[in-house]
Amino acid sequence: MQNISPLSEMEKYGHEQVVFFNDPQSGLKSIVAIHNTTLGPALGGLRMWNYENEQQALWDVLRLSRGMTYKSSLAGINLGGGKAVIMGDPQKQKTEALLRSLGKFIHSLSGKYITAEDVSMNSSDMEIIRMETPYVTGLPHYMGGSGDPSPVTAYGVYISMKASAKFLWGKESLHGKKILVQGLGHVGTHLVEHLASEGAEIWVYDLFEEKIKSISSKYKVHVAKSDNLYALDIDIYAPCALGATLNSQTLNQLKCAIVCGAANNQLEDEEVHGKLIGDKGILYAPDFVANAGGIINVYYELSGYNKERAMAHAERIYGNILKVLQMARDLNIPTYLAANRLAEERINAIARIKTRL
Ligand code: NAD
Repeated sequence: MQNISPLSEMEKYGHEQVVFFNDPQSGLKSIVAIHNTTLGPALGGLRMWNYENEQQALWDVLRLSRGMTYKSSLAGINLGGGKAVIMGDPQKQKTEALLRSLGKFIHSLSGKYITAEDVSMNSSDMEIIRMETPYVTGLPHYMGGSGDPSPVTAYGVYISMKASAKFLWGKESLHGKKILVQGLGHVGTHLVEHLASEGAEIWVYDLFEEKIKSISSKYKVHVAKSDNLYALDIDIYAPCALGATLNSQTLNQLKCAIVCGAANNQLEDEEVHGKLIGDKGILYAPDFVANAGGIINVYYELSGYNKERAMAHAERIYGNILKVLQMARDLNIPTYLAANRLAEERINAIARIKTRL
């Protein structure tokens, strides 16, 4: 990866603010990126990762925070986009002092950035951060929080698949469809549950054998192998592990008709692979539209969590996917671009309203 400079990247992608935090006592090295606050405070998860270097962490936080702006906008919620990363090994370095130190720093931003769970974080970690700042969501239910967002994310991905199926095949049923779920973590396992209950023919894959064993003991699934994962003869591929699995190499192999999953930033290079996937005749349900269930769930925590309200809002993901796919077809543009344009349209429209008294 070539070196990136914070200010020029911010200029290129429209970020408002990037803050670096350093606390030698707790070992905290963190970056918070605030992309856009037109619609509301920048809300996005906190990720702890053993980044190889600062450049990688910066690249990740800039890209993820921008994605949150688009995700919240298209989901129709009043939140801006932000993200936080901590550089370090979560297994060895995630301590109470480190999380509280970050909490203090987040508090210094006066609510412009609100944090939540992401990779390597859970609701107990959010509880620790809450000791230092109220600007945290994803708290456990016993603290009035919305708990684990994954079931809502998985439900959103499931109905996005149904919407994509309806758009492509005229029928939303997934019965008998061959579907590969890659990544059997929080979201992937809930997704398998929905697909199994609808009678889909499911293939699963995870890096960890015990996750595959656990899911195989509960549901009738085929276990895919890592060497022919992307060449499987399937109808739908659901990336639910990490990002960038849609790249020049994998797109050469993929035989499915639809890609719809939970992972963020599935397209390695949005412009290149977002176009290539369409040229290959594969319908791509843009990740940030399909996986918005989690942010919708967390959003309702800010006004006193109500599960019914959150689920009712999450149901709208089905219509959002249809709208994006229709726009892409009408304008003959890639689906990711249609989704970006719809998200930008809402931000620009609300920005105009905000300039009036
Ligand atoms: P998780 O960490 O619980 O699960 C990820 C799973 O993927 C793990 O089981 C891991 O072993 C597996 N994995 C990692 N690399 C892999 C690889 N190369 N091949 C196969 N499996 C691999 O994460 P999650 O909460 O289930 O989230 C899954 C994805 O969805 C992530 O990209 C996350 O950013 C995104 N997402 C999650 C939510 C949410 O509500 N949890 C919301 C929006 C987006």
